[in-house]
Amino acid sequence: MGKLVMGYWDCPFCGSKGVAGNIVNCPSCGRARGDVQFYMKNVAEGETREQNETGDIEYLSSEQAKAVSDNPDWYCSFCNSLNSDNAAFCSNCGASRADSESNYFDQLKKKKEREAAEAAAQQAGSSARPAPSRKIWIIAAAIVLIIIGVIVWMNGNTTSSDLRVSALNWTRRIDIEENRMFSESDWNLPAGAEQTGTRQEIHHYDSVLDHYENREVQRSRQVIDHYETYYTYSDRGNGSFEEVPHQRPVYTTEYYTETVREPVYRQVPRYATKYYYNIWRWTPSRDVTASGEDHQTAWPEYTLGENEREGQRSEAYRFTVEHTGKNNQTTTYQLDEEHWKGLNVGDPVFITSKRSGASPYLSDEKGNKIVDLTQVR
Ligand SMILES: [Zn+2]
Ligand SMILES: [Zn+2]
Repeated sequence: MGKLVMGYWDCPFCGSKGVAGNIVNCPSCGRARGDVQFYMKNVAEGETREQNETGDIEYLSSEQAKAVSDNPDWYCSFCNSLNSDNAAFCSNCGASRADSESNYFDQLKKKKEREAAEAAAQQAGSSARPAPSRKIWIIAAAIVLIIIGVIVWMNGNTTSSDLRVSALNWTRRIDIEENRMFSESDWNLPAGAEQTGTRQEIHHYDSVLDHYENREVQRSRQVIDHYETYYTYSDRGNGSFEEVPHQRPVYTTEYYTETVREPVYRQVPRYATKYYYNIWRWTPSRDVTASGEDHQTAWPEYTLGENEREGQRSEAYRFTVEHTGKNNQTTTYQLDEEHWKGLNVGDPVFITSKRSGASPYLSDEKGNKIVDLTQVR
C-alpha cells in the first residue's frame, strides 16, 4: 500500500473551495458534503510524478492515515449527503447506511457519463452548420469554364486574307559518297574485310574468390541499465488519495565488436583473339546543290571521281508570303513540288491555321484545304 495523500473538495452549495477531505461539513455554509469530486492540491487528474518530484505532495500523517477507512464514502438515499465508511448513520439526517444505494464511485461514474453525453450533443449541434465553401466551388467552376473556352477558341481556325506570294525558292541536292578504306579491329572478322593480323587481348575480367578475411564491425544495442520509480495517484473516494509506485526500465546503449568473415575477390583477365583488318566502306564525302527562284527546277550536274557514287537525293520547295496589311511582315512555307508549281510571285493566297498559328494549310478563301504546309523558321 502506497502513502496516502490529502484530498480536497469544493462545496456545491456555496462555492467554497479547497475543503480538506477529512472535513464532512462545509466550514462556510455548514451543509453536509454532497455531490463532489475529490482532488489533490498541486497534482492534476492523471498526472504522474518522478521519484524526486514529490516535494510538494501533502502526505497524511500516520495518525490522519489511521483515521481514514479503506473503503469509499457512501451516499445517503434520503438527503444525498456523502458519509464516511466509518459512519453507520447519515451525519446530516440520521438515515441508516443500510438504505444507501450508491457510493462515491457509483455517483462519480454517472456524473461523468452525463457530462460526456452533453458534450457529444453539443458537438453534433455545432457540426450541423452549412458548409461555407459553396461560393468557392462556383468561382472554381467559372474559372475552369473560361480556361476551356479559351482553349476551344485557340483551337478554332482562321483564314488570312491579306497574303501575297512575294518569293519562290527551290533547292535540289545530291550527296556524293566515296569508297574509303578503314583500318579497324574487332572480336569477329566482318564479311568483306581483309585480315591484316591477330592478337591475344584482354576481352573481360572475371571475379574469382581468392580468400576470406576477418573484419571487426562496431555494433550497438539497447540494454536495461537500471529501473526508476514513478508515481500515479488514485482517488480512494473518501477524501484521500493513494500514491501508487511503478517501475520503469532505463536503457543505455551498449557497444560491442563483432567479427565478420568476408570474401575477397581477385580480378582475373580472360583473353580472346582480336582481328585486325582493312575494310572498304561507302562514306558521305561531298554534295552538289542546285537552286533557283523560278519554276525551272533541275537536278545538279556532276562528275563522279574514281571510287565515288551517287548517294541520297533531297529536294525542298518554298514560298514566302507578305502580309500586305501587317507592315509587310513575311512568312515562309514549304510544300510539295506539284502544288508549289501552281504558285506565282504576286498571286494572292489564302492560308488557314489554328488561332495559335499551328497546323497551317493552303486553302481557298472560305478555308477549304488544298494542301498542308510546313512553316520554315
Ligand atoms: Zn458550503
Ligand atoms: Zn441523509
